Amino acid sequence: MNTQFPHERILMGPGPSPVPQRVLRALSAPTLGHLDPQYLAIMDETCEMLRQVMRTRNPLTFPVSGTGMAGMECVAVNLVEPGDEVVVCVNGVFGGRMKDVMERCGATVHVVEAPWGETIPHDKIAGVLARNPGVRLVGIVHAETSTGAHQPIEGLAEIVHAKGAMLVVDAVTSLGGHDVRVDDWGIDALYSGTQKCLGCPPGLSPVTMGERALARLDARKTKPQSWYLDVTLLRKYYLAGGGGGARVYHHTAPINMTYALREALAIVLEEGLDARVARHAAVHQRLRAGLEQMGLRYIPSHSLHTLNCISIPEGADDAGTRRRLLEEYGIEIGAGLGVMAGKAWRIGLMGHGATVRNVDLVLAALRAVLGR
Ligand SMILES: *Cc1c(COP(=O)(O)O)cnc(C)c1O
Repeated sequence: MNTQFPHERILMGPGPSPVPQRVLRALSAPTLGHLDPQYLAIMDETCEMLRQVMRTRNPLTFPVSGTGMAGMECVAVNLVEPGDEVVVCVNGVFGGRMKDVMERCGATVHVVEAPWGETIPHDKIAGVLARNPGVRLVGIVHAETSTGAHQPIEGLAEIVHAKGAMLVVDAVTSLGGHDVRVDDWGIDALYSGTQKCLGCPPGLSPVTMGERALARLDARKTKPQSWYLDVTLLRKYYLAGGGGGARVYHHTAPINMTYALREALAIVLEEGLDARVARHAAVHQRLRAGLEQMGLRYIPSHSLHTLNCISIPEGADDAGTRRRLLEEYGIEIGAGLGVMAGKAWRIGLMGHGATVRNVDLVLAALRAVLGR
């Protein structure tokens, strides 16, 4: 196996997604010091672009060092104290992880479940909140990458806020591919990842927190158990600039990854958020039409555009098909995860990979490999 030159794969799995040359070039720019004024200007610009892409004015918006799971942990460790009651919506792997992470923070978790592939009705969440008046936070996954279910978020914050709780949203597989409106939808905290629909390598997790989240931080009686992800410390580095204060070193920021994210966000904003969402919708429709023509069936009733989860057809070889796609066509698609292992394939159409060319390529390759 050649380990010197990584292949140029067509990444059509659940992430990472293809990275544009512009972003790879940005990665290789000279490494600056993390307190160099030029780097701080780049960081400030990156945070401002994140606000635009998330459609928020939240001052506390920055890339957490680490992948999407670091964003999930960051939000949880800062907003949950031992003994807090929270609600977590679980309809797949990532909702299940959010429950686990919240429990590790000492929360008592009330789970609202839906079968895998389905979305969670808002009135079911309202029912659990009505029965448990002490709940402080509701966590939900916008784009459940393990099942391809597209969870409606709009309108949920009103229900959650009416009970005095906060709304936390996982937008790892939606930001940059689906409409995500932090302020309009009343989301109090949201995290994402760079390697799904933003067209950047894995390594950073954009996080935003609004006023309710900040008030919860200020009201904490205990320190978050994670020093590395403590937002009260992190903000003295990431966000001091805007207020004119001095930057305080916390940890060495991943300098070159910040360049890459800045470039990836520039590409998103050049395309325009609405145009980008429309592009993801159009390629999803094209893929769906082709798959259904081949007799392949979508599992979720309300499917994401960015992640297409289909049943493995009767008699098809799961691992063998994916291996042939990779070896003969250079195309990576995803296997089923959790209860869908062996039952589903997951085809990602994310960011730079969400193109007509890739759709037609994967359809032709599947047709050949499956003999349809
Ligand atoms: C990928 C993903 C994560 C985790 O992100 P990593 O970058 O793998 O740490 C969390 N939530 C969802 C919905 C995801 O798709």
